[in-house]
Amino acid sequence: MTPSPTPAPGPARGADLVITGCTVLTHDQDERVVFREDAAIVVRDGVVDDVTSTAEAAGLAAGERIDARGQVAMPGLVNCHTHAPMVALRGLAEDLPTEEWFNDVVWPVESNLTEQDVESGARLACAEMIRGGVTCFADHYFAMDAVAAVVAECGMRAHLGQAYFSSQGDRGREESLEFALRHRGGAGGRITTALAPHAPYTVTDADLAATAELARAHGLPVHLHASENRDQADTSLARHGVTPIEVLERTGVLDTDVLIAHGTGILERDLPVLARARGRTAVASAPRGYLKFGWPTTTPVRALREIGVPVGLATDGAASNNSLDVWEAMALTALIQKSTTGDPRWLTSRQALHHATLQSAQAVGLAGQVGSIAPGRRADIVLVDLTGPHTQPVHDLAATLVHSARSGDVRTTIVDGRILMRDRELLTIDVPEVVEALGRRMPALLDRSHGRRIQEYDT
Ligand SMILES: [Zn+2]
Repeated sequence: MTPSPTPAPGPARGADLVITGCTVLTHDQDERVVFREDAAIVVRDGVVDDVTSTAEAAGLAAGERIDARGQVAMPGLVNCHTHAPMVALRGLAEDLPTEEWFNDVVWPVESNLTEQDVESGARLACAEMIRGGVTCFADHYFAMDAVAAVVAECGMRAHLGQAYFSSQGDRGREESLEFALRHRGGAGGRITTALAPHAPYTVTDADLAATAELARAHGLPVHLHASENRDQADTSLARHGVTPIEVLERTGVLDTDVLIAHGTGILERDLPVLARARGRTAVASAPRGYLKFGWPTTTPVRALREIGVPVGLATDGAASNNSLDVWEAMALTALIQKSTTGDPRWLTSRQALHHATLQSAQAVGLAGQVGSIAPGRRADIVLVDLTGPHTQPVHDLAATLVHSARSGDVRTTIVDGRILMRDRELLTIDVPEVVEALGRRMPALLDRSHGRRIQEYDT
């Protein structure tokens, strides 16, 4: 950092950070993506103070400057549904159907989890996400105090929920609430929280109804899996005569602000239910896992958009994905939508960028705060290098970003005005140290000889 010796005239005080020479991805008043060339971003107190021209910003005193010529500045990506610590299980349960994946590998292994494993896993996950241009993630897991501590330390933004099953008794639900109240507004406001029942097939109607009550009483959102796949919707109909989405309605969960993970089993009959939900409802789509599990359908993005439900991009945990690459989720969402609708005009690159920015911010309850580079928004910004051979020439910048660029093209990642990665170098996490710590725990973590599971998968 080289502070300017003489403060420039004009503003009372210099900026904390000025990024110059870049093309900035902004939005117009109709939320359309607009690219502003040779632009500068001025950051003060963690907030975007101004988006101006490079010439205008030339004389501005700044604590730190980034010359971003050849790069695009875009809002940091949001991973709208993940289980960050599951990076520890990356590649452990391959080429299996959902039921065997849960019952034979993941849930037996998770019965060995310690708080230390969750912490190391979260740290590795945050390193991966920062490297991939993700500035915020919605996490749904166990021992979440450890994840909150890692978020505070590494500088990311996060929307955290302590997951629970009804098999844990009342305690699981109570702990989910205690966690949400304890950490709400934590890490200097970078942490927001949610109540996090696992799913309608592992949480009873009574527990879902109690959770909805608590959400309303405490002004908390709910984050859960629902209608993850078509099998779950069919089983719910056969057993209870209602779909998982209808379960959310009758238990009052749709009266709260709810983030639904996956929803690839959302049926035609669910659409009016979602349309009349009284709370703010959003769906997180993690398409890579659906392909891998061989699920017959994907999140019905087009139908959800027609009823005004935002669809945020996600990766789910790395045990199924196998990465936390939201960039890839963006490209896959565009491709799978074209393929499943049979319409090359849906979804366009600009629409994909709208999902990646404003809709993802809405999904995690941060509309108006992140998801856009504009005065007053938190300065969560990534700089993407488009000088590589695979991104040249640029005829359509939106298409270049969605279909040619990769997460590895992100050079710099900034959250709340703080640089977490500069020129590909992570500044807040020591990756070799984390990998070593995780490695030491592997034999004990992977032991399945005890025959225990934290839960049984039965759609
Ligand atoms: Zn999940």
